[in-house]
Amino acid sequence: MEKSPTWNLKDLLSAPVRDLDVLQKEVDDQVQRFEGLRERLSSEMPAETFLEALRLAETITRSASKLGAYAYLWFSENTKDQRARSFKATVEELQAGLANRMLFFDLWWQKLDEANAGRLLAASGDYAYHLETIRRFKDHTLSEPEEKVINVKSVTGRQAVVGLYDILTSGLTYHVKAKGRVRKLTREDLMVYVRDPDARMREAAYRELYRVFAQNADVIGDIYKTLVLDWKQENLGLRKHRSPIAVRNLLNDIPEQAVEALLSVCARNAGIFQDYFRLKARLCRIKKMSRFHIYAPFREARKQYAFKTASAMVLEAYHGFLTPYVLLNFKGDVRDVATLAHELGHAVHGMLAADHSVFTFHATLPLAETASVFGERILSDALMAGERNKAVKQSLLIRQLDDVYATILRQAYFVRFEREAHRIIGEGGTMDDLCRVYLAELRQQFGRAVAVPDEFRWEWLSIPHIFASPFYCYAYSFGNLLVLALYGLYKTQGESFVPRYLSLLAAGGSRAPESLLKDFGVDIRSEAFWQAGFDTIKGMVRELEAVA
Ligand SMILES: [Zn+2]
Repeated sequence: MEKSPTWNLKDLLSAPVRDLDVLQKEVDDQVQRFEGLRERLSSEMPAETFLEALRLAETITRSASKLGAYAYLWFSENTKDQRARSFKATVEELQAGLANRMLFFDLWWQKLDEANAGRLLAASGDYAYHLETIRRFKDHTLSEPEEKVINVKSVTGRQAVVGLYDILTSGLTYHVKAKGRVRKLTREDLMVYVRDPDARMREAAYRELYRVFAQNADVIGDIYKTLVLDWKQENLGLRKHRSPIAVRNLLNDIPEQAVEALLSVCARNAGIFQDYFRLKARLCRIKKMSRFHIYAPFREARKQYAFKTASAMVLEAYHGFLTPYVLLNFKGDVRDVATLAHELGHAVHGMLAADHSVFTFHATLPLAETASVFGERILSDALMAGERNKAVKQSLLIRQLDDVYATILRQAYFVRFEREAHRIIGEGGTMDDLCRVYLAELRQQFGRAVAVPDEFRWEWLSIPHIFASPFYCYAYSFGNLLVLALYGLYKTQGESFVPRYLSLLAAGGSRAPESLLKDFGVDIRSEAFWQAGFDTIKGMVRELEAVA
């Protein structure tokens, strides 16, 4: 068997345990200097001193995240490696300690009166949005000693429990009979079979996945309950957020009204994907469409693209945009070409936003995939336009619609389930209750078009985001639907759209998503806006029908 690739971590740190000491000392000195600024904080302080503190905080954040990135990558390379695990624990403890020593600054800044906060904000340049973000949490922040206790305890609490989930689930193995012999597989290898041309293999893969998860359902279910109750105690009980999802909305800086509009428009449009899966069943000659087969491949046309042709196509599609370097695996099918366009999008986004501080460089989560998915859309259109072969056209559309389903509707339904799950667990519900609700949501999502076998009741146990980052998944629905809408604008406005789009990307994470999108005349609180995204998807399904 081929050895799985390891991350090249040399750029980050060469000998972790030794370098940890050096880096720790360096960060410690910086934090000591930062602590020295404490008595200089006052409502009348000069902007220059304030900026000095921010610049120092930025340097510290950069060093600390370097350590964190290493610990995380090493751990995810092999979650069973004892040294990686203990290194990760050490780094997490260290980071919590640093955060606690710097906490006074945020607390002071949150309490500062409006007039002086406004004065310092006006002088803070690129740091402004970061500072606004801190103040956004003002009503939900506790006293300094309380915050310190939460920071310390969450390393051995919440973070440790999420770590146990990772260790447990990544250690699971699966057995599938393929080509006459039983093979032992990792989850990643197993999931390849859900796209197998053979229907029996697709079904066997899902059955095996959920057989194994069902076996571990007691422990994983308890992990989930612990995380949900922790979320509730801290965020609702102590911090007084209005609802479990309100925390995530505040972190994303997306108004509740926009999230509600997004989720309800998604549920209302589930029928579009039901139509799609009916059509797909016909095109892929699947007698009875079931959840086992939604990712079945369309076998007629498997077109191969040479790397040279592919990069030429992608660059042509990106005409007028920037072209940095991207590293990826390339085997030549259309999925690889799309990945090329996707990664190039991320690279373009990074280059355009490169001038921002550590605090304002990364676009907030719901906008983080804008450039990459937009790049895929441009490419798809170019491929479709240049294609004469009917089967290839169908296969392109099917691939896109499968992706659109998985990144939009599926994600929205995860979050709908989470809302229910947090409520159920808060009211003392059981594992059976959770599974029943999950299955009911799935059946509502697929209607009569796609049969949902009982074992899919365990599916939620296998979705890491639901455990590690509650309500995270709506950001995918948000980002992907948004891109469909922006792409629609691009097609109607042409060249005049490009400079505005580039400045959206260049903003990185330096402005609130809602205000950035207002520049396009987009109102994320309006259902009509999200509906427009689904109208585009409906158009794609019609196109597929027409080609067929
Ligand atoms: Zn991406």
